[in-house]
Amino acid sequence: MTETRATDKIAEAFDAVDIIRVKRDKGTLSPEQIDWTIDAYTRGVIADEQMAALNMAILLNGMDRTEIARWTAAMIASGERMDFSSLRRPDGGLKYTSDKHSTGGVGDKITLPLAPLVAVFGVAVPQLSGRGLGHTGGTLDKLESIPGWRASLSNDEILAQLQDVGAVICAAGAGLAPADKKLYALRDVTGTVEAIPLIASSIMSKKIAEGTGSLVLDVKVGSGAFMKDEAKARELAETMVALGQDAGVNTVALLTNMGTPLGLTAGNAIEVEESVEVLAGGGPADVVELTVRLAEEMLACAGVRDADPAAALKDGRAMDVWNRMIRAQGGDPAAKLPVARESEVVYAPADGVLVELDALSVGVAAWRLGAGRARKEDAVQAGAGVRMHAKPGAVVRAGEPLMTLLTDTPERFDRAKEALEHAVVIAPEGSRPAQQLIIDRIA
Ligand code: URA
Repeated sequence: MTETRATDKIAEAFDAVDIIRVKRDKGTLSPEQIDWTIDAYTRGVIADEQMAALNMAILLNGMDRTEIARWTAAMIASGERMDFSSLRRPDGGLKYTSDKHSTGGVGDKITLPLAPLVAVFGVAVPQLSGRGLGHTGGTLDKLESIPGWRASLSNDEILAQLQDVGAVICAAGAGLAPADKKLYALRDVTGTVEAIPLIASSIMSKKIAEGTGSLVLDVKVGSGAFMKDEAKARELAETMVALGQDAGVNTVALLTNMGTPLGLTAGNAIEVEESVEVLAGGGPADVVELTVRLAEEMLACAGVRDADPAAALKDGRAMDVWNRMIRAQGGDPAAKLPVARESEVVYAPADGVLVELDALSVGVAAWRLGAGRARKEDAVQAGAGVRMHAKPGAVVRAGEPLMTLLTDTPERFDRAKEALEHAVVIAPEGSRPAQQLIIDRIA
């Protein structure tokens, strides 16, 4: 195949500068202009600086629903689409697929117990996940702390595991929406990640190309989320639900609180440990509540009625699928998880009720301790992170341990403690934190 180069101007249908001007002047891009833009950027005809200018114009001036739908379709068309239609139930019928996507938060380990839990009920869960960048953790980074576990699977391996085990959590292959990979990397370094049309099309292009039959979106709101305010999170959720429905994917969204971390751990191995507690029928109440609610939504979307996911956590059925899922990818579910070499305790500064434990501060602290990466190519420390000893609502006494900081590299403690300087608010006894885990449902 001959490659089109930036100099082959005559062959191109549009000019990038004209496209940028349309959005700069608050105009609407035509379907043909959008198709060309995504294709030409993927081919290298539109330069990074031109795409950065267009992204900024989109961030500032927005896109209408028709433009977003076409932008998403063009990103899907840039790569392959997976097909799960060969999956079969024991009775020979089509095995339904359901997936969950979280817009990212601190301590968000829900995918780990959720995927095997939903698979208990005969619904296949193809959970193609990513790595963390910045203060939000990545599902693959967490699972890679399990000795032997492998994130990269071929499409045939994904299908075989979905058929045999029912759940797979693995890396999204390079073939799915390659335009998004290039675009996301550019947005990350040009301050344009937060544009709602770009976030919605980025997430939904990958999920639609993945081929899931239904999708439940966990759209986070609060300091630890992309969307700090509820109105914006709601707009993002509504945009994504509409994109999913239009593409024939049964999609619903929950708006959930990310003002404080989920559970009592933010890191990698410590989050796996907490997920296994949930699969053993225990674990923190908020992690259990969200896992069960998302499972109910996924099962309802897949047409499964009368399922009791809470019971499947209590009686070991979800744990059985987890063990098989980890083993299928080379991991040893019984192996001891890595432990950080060094630890330091943060103590409560006063008596009272813990009314605030800020998600962003804890996420940044965990990241600085080595649980996250600053650049894509950095390695993460499996044992690093923050273990919390109290959640908002708890009564604490001055001098009691509030958090334990974990790392292999103790020179990181000071910067982590700086991040936590304003993380905690303790109010007089009798005060109550403003908290509601599940804020709304959008369908
Ligand atoms: N996650 C994605 O996949 N894309 C975005 O744009 C933001 C979060």
